[in-house]
Amino acid sequence: MSSRHQTNRWKYDRPPSLQQFMATFPDDAACAEWLAHRRWPDGFVCPACSGLKGWKLEAKPWTWECAGCGRQTSTTAGTMMHRTHLPLRTWFLAAHLVATHSNGISALQLQAKLGIGSYKTAWLLLHKLRKAMVDPERDPLEGMVEVDESSIVYRTKDDPVAGGQGRSAEGKILIAAAVETMSGGRAGRIRLTTIKDYSAATLQRFVADNTVDGSTILTDGFSAYPGMRNRNHVPRVVGAMAAHALLPWVHRVFANLKRLALGVYHGFRRKHIQAYLDEFVFRWNRRRHYRSAFDMLMGIGLRTGPCQYNDLIGKAA
Ligand SMILES: [Zn+2]
Repeated sequence: MSSRHQTNRWKYDRPPSLQQFMATFPDDAACAEWLAHRRWPDGFVCPACSGLKGWKLEAKPWTWECAGCGRQTSTTAGTMMHRTHLPLRTWFLAAHLVATHSNGISALQLQAKLGIGSYKTAWLLLHKLRKAMVDPERDPLEGMVEVDESSIVYRTKDDPVAGGQGRSAEGKILIAAAVETMSGGRAGRIRLTTIKDYSAATLQRFVADNTVDGSTILTDGFSAYPGMRNRNHVPRVVGAMAAHALLPWVHRVFANLKRLALGVYHGFRRKHIQAYLDEFVFRWNRRRHYRSAFDMLMGIGLRTGPCQYNDLIGKAA
């Protein structure tokens, strides 16, 4: 376990109010300042020649010019905000809303709250932020981990620009879930992934990918789980006892996820289900840690690099 998790996991922090947030970031220049500091904590570094001397351009508040080679670099170049047409403050406000919203904000809500011109622009902004919700270097779960599988209804109508709620053509997608259980009956971090079937190979791969060697895996009596490599397996089968009593946390995760799918999004769209799952995991794992939620969104967003509308909807440009 990394020290980051040990020291911060259970220290709650309150998000600032919207007014406090807006006072911290009163304009685009303040946002650019924050980004520049985050990107170059030890001072400007030219991405072209690695020169350390440069200055901010007066005419463009978030652009630096290298004293050595003359190359101009925006603080947003190569990040999720690359060549954005939106004000930086809109990005920051969107990240704040996404980080503080308890059960997920829709593109329509984001468009209305931030006064964004088109639904497509709001959708794109939201999906870029969603892509920043998974840290590629995150640690696997450890200790006692509940694991289970379930299915969820999805909508097959998947035009990303449509606002309709047609539920005529529905299907089911299979999902695996894992929840760390802590002392005192608390839940720790979770993982959620779409899976292609309930086979032993698929479910044991999920466990191998998402938990460390030596973890104790709590499951129900399903035949797919026995035989996991380098894991202590504790199948919980107690006569006629209800499944939710045997694996309380993983069942709560599935129940919350299904309620979210029906309530907030009017049904997940199949193409974006993993993105919704990633958002759910992000919210759960940081439900009491505003600062890490906002910093992570912006921090991963700085590293993930630009992605365009066609990348997000899965079409060739
Ligand atoms: Zn340079």
